[in-house]
Amino acid sequence: MNKQDIIDIKQLLSSKKNIVIVPHKNPDGDAIGSTLGLLHFLLNTGHEATIIAPNDYPSFLKWLPLEHTIIKHDDKTNLCNSIIEKSDIIFTLDFNALHRTGNMETVLEKSSAIKIMIDHHQQPDDYAQYTYSDVTMSSTCQMVYHFLDKIEALKHLNKDIATCLYTGIMTDTGSFRYRSTTSTTHRIIADLIDKGADNTQIHNSIYDTNSFNRMQLLGIALNNLKIIPESRTAYTSLSQAELQQFNYKKGDTEGFVNYALSLNNIVLAAIFIEDKQNNIIKISLRSKGHFSVNELSRKYFEGGGHTNAAGGKSDTSIEATIEKFISILPLYNCSLNDN
Ligand code: 5GP
Ligand code: MN
Repeated sequence: MNKQDIIDIKQLLSSKKNIVIVPHKNPDGDAIGSTLGLLHFLLNTGHEATIIAPNDYPSFLKWLPLEHTIIKHDDKTNLCNSIIEKSDIIFTLDFNALHRTGNMETVLEKSSAIKIMIDHHQQPDDYAQYTYSDVTMSSTCQMVYHFLDKIEALKHLNKDIATCLYTGIMTDTGSFRYRSTTSTTHRIIADLIDKGADNTQIHNSIYDTNSFNRMQLLGIALNNLKIIPESRTAYTSLSQAELQQFNYKKGDTEGFVNYALSLNNIVLAAIFIEDKQNNIIKISLRSKGHFSVNELSRKYFEGGGHTNAAGGKSDTSIEATIEKFISILPLYNCSLNDN
């Protein structure tokens, strides 16, 4: 985003607009935190604004301020489409390719609204009039903070915005430990706490609301863990039957893949989760160091993301998907072993 873009956007937002804010499908803490943070700012500065999420998100996010106003496209498709059709501006947050919104792709593509992308994933598509893309950023929430700074709107930062942005920075940085966490991230976090973000409450609300079923499911995932030492890789899987046995709810498997990555001498980790409803295997990939799971996922599993965290999918069975994964590892043995 250059200087002229910032002038244009300030001008755009200087009069009341109908604005839609969109996160990616299966939104996570950063997607919901950033859209809500921006929503609070836009509503407080006199705009009509609505968050339309492609689908539902984990219940550990369902306490954030104004979260209850988020409309889900898969639930209220006609209403959502008509709001999108009437909008002047669409902010797309925490993704950079319209297909990441699933069934919303067509209506977003057709819309003549001005699109503004704020995102930190690799290789952004070119669909937005204004693109604020920075792959070095810890989170889209951190970028929303910088965005408010750029348009000279940080004076509007209040407790609600601070709470939403803190949440997404925390979840996308693994609680401030990934390499993308910089001294600037910490300075922003300090400012968010000064503005009223309650760090202990946020942490407890996100991480300490485990159901007994989720912990049992984690036990299964840990039990299914396999190691391929020559590729410094660990992976696990959950079948639909295993998910059902513990009454799986959205978000229950979040973070499971990190246990595989935490093993001594492992630099690549994966979890394969059977999704019978959508007839796919959902894959989460994590890595350490310079090994890019974004590239691996793009090449073999129709996905993408970041260097050290990416997702993808497969249309074959869970066994066939794991077999494919295992068969491609030797191609990467060199790079996995000198990581
Ligand atoms: P997760 O494994 O937690 O679902 O996702 C890890 C990262 O990869 C997140 O930043 C997420 O937005 C991104 N991601 C997950 N699934 C996909 C996918 O299917 N396609 C792309 N391009 N990115 C994905
Ligand atoms: Mn993110």
